[in-house]
Amino acid sequence: MNSPDNYAVMGYPIHHSKSPRIHALFAEETEQNMSYLAQEVRPENFTSAVNTFFEKGGKGLNCTLPLKELAWEFATHKTPRAQAAKAVNTLILQTNGQVLGDNTDGIGLVADLKNNHGVNLENKRLLILGAGGATRGILLPLLDEKPKSITIANRTVEKALQLAKEFQQHIHACGFDALENHQFDVILNATSASLSDDLPPLPENILAENGICYDLAYSNQPTAFVRWGIEQNAHKSIDGLGMLVEQAAEAFFLWRGVRPSTQDVIDLLNAHR
Ligand code: NAP
Repeated sequence: MNSPDNYAVMGYPIHHSKSPRIHALFAEETEQNMSYLAQEVRPENFTSAVNTFFEKGGKGLNCTLPLKELAWEFATHKTPRAQAAKAVNTLILQTNGQVLGDNTDGIGLVADLKNNHGVNLENKRLLILGAGGATRGILLPLLDEKPKSITIANRTVEKALQLAKEFQQHIHACGFDALENHQFDVILNATSASLSDDLPPLPENILAENGICYDLAYSNQPTAFVRWGIEQNAHKSIDGLGMLVEQAAEAFFLWRGVRPSTQDVIDLLNAHR
């Protein structure tokens, strides 16, 4: 057999990453001859690490925290969704030697909501909590689903206002206190509060009947936001493990031209929580 094509995920820290396992499962299922490793890279070493990786014949990279903005700067050209996100999580070496940057986070989120959970976003009132890199990455794919409205609420209101201004298209921006007396069909938690089992300060009754709560973060235990959604009688209160697998599937497709099926991988990761 020929030597495998090499891929990797770079981040700092990276030891917790589930990506090598996910891509190994995809490769097995689709019979792709490839390897995928995790590589710990500090931001100050990013450019040299990526150059070395591609010089040694690497075909593609995933970049995770805190390297997504650096990957955006590194990419010689970018897809429209990566351009809008100002962050890149997937680098693809092209036949002409150029490196294309994409951001598959938003498309992964939408795929998880629609395909795995049957949640249609068209004409829905969406609330996004947080205005950091993840929110920036998901906005364009969410707008493509034609929701009725998108509201971004953030602790630092200026960051939400800035994002809304950049993306224009009917996005509202506010602080958490301004959510009082409003209702939303889908609430997406894109803050990093869950990482410390914390919750943004949310007023009661903002989730519409049969509403959906989705935490982009994931954990072996239900996150604080997933628990909040259950308390609010959400129709579904879900964490971001499915998004992780779906964004990986999109990257795999960009590299290999083959779309892996994701449900078995999600089931396997869920079984090992
Ligand atoms: P980031 O750029 O650091 O932004 C963090 C955001 O969270 C900011 O808006 C910050 O508000 C807010 N925040 C932090 N702690 C808070 C608290 N205690 N209460 C209220 N707001 C708080 O991080 P990011 O890259 O956007 O990531 C956000 C989350 O998305 C993380 O949990 C990450 O794991 C998750 N994510 C998941 C996937 C997936 O595949 N499932 C992909 C990407 C990201 P301020 O602006 O006021 O500081």
